[in-house]
Amino acid sequence: MTEKHKPLIAGNWKMNGTRNSAAALLDAIKKGADEVSHADLAVFPPAIFLEQTERALQGTSIAWGGQNFYFEPFGAFTGELSSGMLCEFGCHYVLIGHSERRTLLGETDHVVQLKYQMALQTGLTPIVCIGETLEERKNHLTVHVLRRQLEAIFSISDETTHLHQSVVAYEPVWAIGTGLTAQPEMAQEVHAQIREWVAEYDKQAAENLRILYGGSLKKENAAALFAMPDINGGLIGGASLNAAEFLDIARLCSN
Ligand code: PEP
Repeated sequence: MTEKHKPLIAGNWKMNGTRNSAAALLDAIKKGADEVSHADLAVFPPAIFLEQTERALQGTSIAWGGQNFYFEPFGAFTGELSSGMLCEFGCHYVLIGHSERRTLLGETDHVVQLKYQMALQTGLTPIVCIGETLEERKNHLTVHVLRRQLEAIFSISDETTHLHQSVVAYEPVWAIGTGLTAQPEMAQEVHAQIREWVAEYDKQAAENLRILYGGSLKKENAAALFAMPDINGGLIGGASLNAAEFLDIARLCSN
């Protein structure tokens, strides 16, 4: 990992927690954050906890973000929330294209593209999640699928400034929440490929791009993954619900 890539350790809480457990988790992460200042920390609570997250983390080095939003700025979209609303609650980041949204909630590459554009317009840093299913990997479609998913962001404009403002998370779908993790070398190969693709558009952006690994990342496998040169941090689901484990993972991301 080079100097440029201060690692980002991001915790995706998904649809978990209560007001009380969220408060306890935020408090514990806050208490341990100084010991892992070599990494940027970010949490992604359910949207209904964003206000308390803002209150808890304001003035600390820990960032927070939204797990999702709708791509229109406002209007008759019952149940949705906008990127502007996320900004109002102090969000810095937003997850886009998480595989659970793609597979369970029917999000297409086109929707990912619309959300990506809206996130940038409102000043949020998009963390674009891409990943292949087990079947796609078995059928040797990994490269094809990842490239297709990334085209959604590459094709928004001839201008490449946006690539300097974004983060990519490689999350093999077969590794999310399953306990299976990509072998470090396998993940490295994909991360290097992603960087090469970005370099086709903008070499500087590719060099500086933070590419996170996600998929059953835990303290037992984090060090080996983070030792890979193109892995610049992690997007952590299950293990981010435990502050000690989340901070341990961040601690292991030290080189
Ligand atoms: C995720 O939600 O992005 C994720 C990687 O989940 P888990 O760590 O639980 O596999």
